[in-house]
Amino acid sequence: MHRLLHEEHAADAVAVSTGRLPAADAVAALVREGHERYRGVRDGAVADYIPALAAADPAWFGVALCGVDGGLFAAGDADRVFSIQSISKPFVFALVCQALGGGRARDSIGVNATGLPFNSVMAIELNARRTMNPMVNAGAIATTSLIPGANEDERWDFLCDGLSRFAGRTLAMDQGVYESEAASNQRNRGIARLLHGYGRMYSDPDEATDLYTRQCALMVSARDLAVMGATLADGGVNPVTGLRVLYPDRCRRILAVMATAGLYEQSGDWLYEVGLPGKSGVSGGLVTIAPGKCGLGTFAPPLDDAGNSVRGQLVTQFLSERLGLNIFASKPEDTG
Ligand code: GLN
Repeated sequence: MHRLLHEEHAADAVAVSTGRLPAADAVAALVREGHERYRGVRDGAVADYIPALAAADPAWFGVALCGVDGGLFAAGDADRVFSIQSISKPFVFALVCQALGGGRARDSIGVNATGLPFNSVMAIELNARRTMNPMVNAGAIATTSLIPGANEDERWDFLCDGLSRFAGRTLAMDQGVYESEAASNQRNRGIARLLHGYGRMYSDPDEATDLYTRQCALMVSARDLAVMGATLADGGVNPVTGLRVLYPDRCRRILAVMATAGLYEQSGDWLYEVGLPGKSGVSGGLVTIAPGKCGLGTFAPPLDDAGNSVRGQLVTQFLSERLGLNIFASKPEDTG
């Protein structure tokens, strides 16, 4: 995948942030251009370890951008729904941070990178605190175990309502994907029980794994991801509904954890090339946040070896460069 991410663009094509998005017609043209540019890329493989995901068409490709003013731009299959999978992780962590406070959430889960694959058991054994961060399965299932509620139904409602507020519409679960993963998620159940043994699960481990499997089966589109991302770009206020979902102090913590670990063991490469917090999922979704500017949502099922969407990464890198989104890009003050 590095071959793809390291595709060089001309240095003068890399725009420096002006603090805001370019004008709407320029954004619309670049979203279309990015989609057109990478639609023919056929690298990567559709995930099949969750049987229901293997049916995805490798050619599906959607790109969407939502500005912090609520303006939406889309190209390709931006309205096709797919299961959110790991992209639920930052948003569920956000709900837990909102409910418990950023300090308690950090102490309970951790916020450092593992450097290991998303479903690593080794990462649990190697680290004295057992969970490392909420973006990989161990920390994500532990995060789900912190969702408030008297029973599983109440916790599900809390989770589902919360993620729906990020999207600005009521999200529904894909029953087929849920059942397919529930019948084949022995590894995640093992992770939850292992953490339980180490005192790092905060509710019944089997129930938390079931809830986690349901959250992963919530259906979203690239357009939904753009709005969810724009809510994090907008200090926790959904720019489409105008409703606050998250306090600003929580919001910036979520972005920090996404920057650290959002693309699994390739999070460093991602930050190096794209310079933005993002989160990928195994069904081919990717959400990226340009703080103060916009959220980007992409969907393209074929994945690289770490489980990140190949075309999603390419088009996001292109848009980050052309729209001047990279948070690390600067140029000297003009003294002339
Ligand atoms: N539900 C998937 C799992 O836990 C999510 C993984 C992912 O999107 N990387 O295995």
